[in-house]
Amino acid sequence: MEKSEYDAVVVGSGPNGLAAALEIARTGRSVAVIEAHETIGGGMRTGEVTLPGFLHDICSSVHPLGIASPFFRSVNLSNYGLEWVHPRYCAAHPFDDGSAAVLDRSVDVTAESLGDDARAYHRTMDPWLDVWEFLLEELLGPFPLPPRRPFLLARFGLQALPSAQTYVNRYFKGERAKAFFAGMAAHSIQPLENIVSASFGLMLSLLGHVVGWPVARGGSQSLANALAGELTAAGVKICTGWKVNSLDELPPSRAVLLDVTPRQVLDITGERFPDAYRRQLGRYRYGPGIFKIDWALSEPVPWRAEECRQAGTVHLGGTYEEIALSERLIGQGKHPEKPFVLFVQPSRFDRSRAPEGKEVGWAYCHVPNGSTVDMTDRIEAQIERFAPGFKDCILARRVWSTRDLESYNPNYIGGDINGGMQDLLQFFTRPTLQLTPYRTPDPGIYICSSSTPPGGGVHGMCGYHAARTALRYAFNS
Ligand SMILES: Cc1cc2nc3c(=O)[nH]c(=O)nc-3n(C[C@H](O)[C@H](O)[C@H](O)COP(=O)(O)OP(=O)(O)OC[C@H]3O[C@@H](n4cnc5c(N)ncnc54)[C@H](O)[C@@H]3O)c2cc1C
Repeated sequence: MEKSEYDAVVVGSGPNGLAAALEIARTGRSVAVIEAHETIGGGMRTGEVTLPGFLHDICSSVHPLGIASPFFRSVNLSNYGLEWVHPRYCAAHPFDDGSAAVLDRSVDVTAESLGDDARAYHRTMDPWLDVWEFLLEELLGPFPLPPRRPFLLARFGLQALPSAQTYVNRYFKGERAKAFFAGMAAHSIQPLENIVSASFGLMLSLLGHVVGWPVARGGSQSLANALAGELTAAGVKICTGWKVNSLDELPPSRAVLLDVTPRQVLDITGERFPDAYRRQLGRYRYGPGIFKIDWALSEPVPWRAEECRQAGTVHLGGTYEEIALSERLIGQGKHPEKPFVLFVQPSRFDRSRAPEGKEVGWAYCHVPNGSTVDMTDRIEAQIERFAPGFKDCILARRVWSTRDLESYNPNYIGGDINGGMQDLLQFFTRPTLQLTPYRTPDPGIYICSSSTPPGGGVHGMCGYHAARTALRYAFNS
């Protein structure tokens, strides 16, 4: 890239980096994006990582947050080829008796699959169906700035702020609903006894009903490419294959937005910030990591429960107790024998992902941060438990330890895919304790990654809020 001057330079092309670049470019300012990899997209990349013709989502695959994101919805992504594909069921949760609960677009169908707790499920979900957009705006807002709808948020907090453990005991009687909710809440990547773990479960289930859990046709890379199409149309310069080690390398600009986590912010900015701020960034906490596997499969996964064959995502963990134990052990730095596994089968619904008759599989389980334990056998045993014969379908596999993930993308510190622990304390201190967390003490430097509110996931809202902050403080607009 020529060292010409830009209004803003964004380091990193994840969903948040691309969103930040676009929001600034929309105001007519010149913007450059610099990405370490040869391809753009951060957590939205797709590649042939097993066999030729098998397209694997290397990181994110399922996009309830992507399709619901107020920022993504402000971009006409379909103009650039993005097509959301909706599986018959958003998710399925199989049990050892061969049956399964499902998250369906219909609350009725979902409730029915939960047996005795059908009415209870309605009671927990129905109040949110008409106000979900307002609620989402608050939850994806620039926390901890005061909410625009405090009463709505307080109502949500009353239901969802307790731990998932308290939630299931308060609302459900039967094992099916408790286990189903545990699978949803475990997306929080923290013990189910932790406050706020229930809020992930409620929000993800609600999103299933109101927008679905789609995958992107052709892979998540299609979402990155669609965003890049809009960026290029807005005149943004994208430069790949450049790992930024220091601010000194960057072309001159009025604002630099860093789509990286606090540890990398410290490396890149060196001595630029006062000691007190550097100490705060240094205290930022990373969460558990993940161990991930991509498979090329000779045929569809032979799930015992028919519902699982028709679901995009399958939650494998059996009962509430098992899932809670799995997440608790990880919180204690241990590795469960029967880990909770998130399995995704996008090629069942998007035939562009695999050769005729063949399939791709994607799964991960949580592990302690920085873990070096190989979880392949434990993950495959959990799948085999609900789909006997699965192992016979494996043509090839690619495993990703926490170290592999971090060397693939330096934002995944110790395998943490959310850019930092998402517990109650770090909701208020993401990445430091201040009202506009995207700002740093230098008015020309901003943090726009998922280490800022509202946190992990492919939604671009951290980047959007960081860009609005930079426009206000660096450009006075
Ligand atoms: C295996 C896995 C599964 C996931 N599944 C889902 C899912 O199904 N749905 C969902 O919503 N979310 C999912 N996520 C989480 C989601 O991918 C992340 O939360 C999201 O990508 C974070 O976006 P970001 O822009 O903050 O950072 P990233 O997407 O991590 O992007 C950061 C970018 O910055 C680049 N970079 C870093 N350092 C430098 C440097 N020094 N110089 C230049 N470039 C640099 C990186 O190469 C990367 O491209 C998953 C993540 C993983 C790893």
